[in-house]
Amino acid sequence: MHYAEEWDNVGLHAGDRNKEISRIMVALSPGEDAVNAAVEAGVDMLLTHHPLIFRSMKQINSDTATGRSLLKLIRNDVNLYCAHTNLDIAKDGVNDVLAQALELEQVKPLADITHDICYKVVVYVPAGYEEIVRQAMCKAGAGCIGNYSGCTFQAKGTGTFLPGENTNPFIGEAGRMEYAEEYRLETVVPQAVLSAVIRAMEEAHPYEEVAYDVFRLENGGEDRGIGRVGQLKEAVSLAEFLDFTASKLSCDHMTYHGDLSRQIKTVALCGGSGSSYMGAAKKAGADVYVTGDMRYHDAQAADEMDLCVVDAGHLRTERMIVDALAAFARKQGLEVIVFDELKQDYLKHWHK
Ligand SMILES: [Zn+2]
Repeated sequence: MHYAEEWDNVGLHAGDRNKEISRIMVALSPGEDAVNAAVEAGVDMLLTHHPLIFRSMKQINSDTATGRSLLKLIRNDVNLYCAHTNLDIAKDGVNDVLAQALELEQVKPLADITHDICYKVVVYVPAGYEEIVRQAMCKAGAGCIGNYSGCTFQAKGTGTFLPGENTNPFIGEAGRMEYAEEYRLETVVPQAVLSAVIRAMEEAHPYEEVAYDVFRLENGGEDRGIGRVGQLKEAVSLAEFLDFTASKLSCDHMTYHGDLSRQIKTVALCGGSGSSYMGAAKKAGADVYVTGDMRYHDAQAADEMDLCVVDAGHLRTERMIVDALAAFARKQGLEVIVFDELKQDYLKHWHK
């Protein structure tokens, strides 16, 4: 959620935030087809990549498809959760899944790059409570370094405090100096979850007044951004790359720009409608840019900047995220139904 673009509308579009969720349906778009299927299957939530409500709505009624979908979802108590540009930007989101499908290596963000700010949170915990506090903080998102989670450090020591007159200390008594066996527990926390981690830490901590420090770090944190750029294992011709991409993304049809004999090694990509990042692809040294929804004038611009472009379609460059979301939800213990995303191939190709 923290990484969504400003213009986007992500999160819970319909439903009760406190609803217990055990069965969900995952679809690329919350079209009426997917909404009907979710209601029919009686799931607790429909999880989609594309948002249902995008521009502000002044009326919710059955005159529009969006209104009908909202009415249907609410009447049938099906929550709708949309993860759009936050999922484009996120690690293991749409663009990482696309980069994996194209077997890219040394993958980095392509555009709108920001560096995550990280903090070091240090808290002093009485002996016997260090594990409870540690687990609460990690559950709230602390302690992730690369692909490692639960990264913390703890050292034993002696804490001193003098409880004031109107206190009700967990250890010791008012007016008497206390020397308590404590752990100094420290861990790294990204800015996006800092307040949640502190809240979890305070809730799990037994003391009336929790002693903790928050330091802003100069190191750590990951680069985030839209799109990806990476390397193919070996350089191939554009003709071979088209063949490879078509088979990896299950396309029977793609459009492209460029000389078929051109050598391709550096690949930039952005799933969905990514034509606006073509300049960023060129700047990143890409030999080819893979995206969807290219217009005539985009191809003309690609020609002018001497960049090969492959338009594999909006759906084909994003559909793998549906399976990735389903796998993620199953890992969380949910029962998941995958809506057949090919039903959402609204744009068909006609061949003579
Ligand atoms: Zn899309």
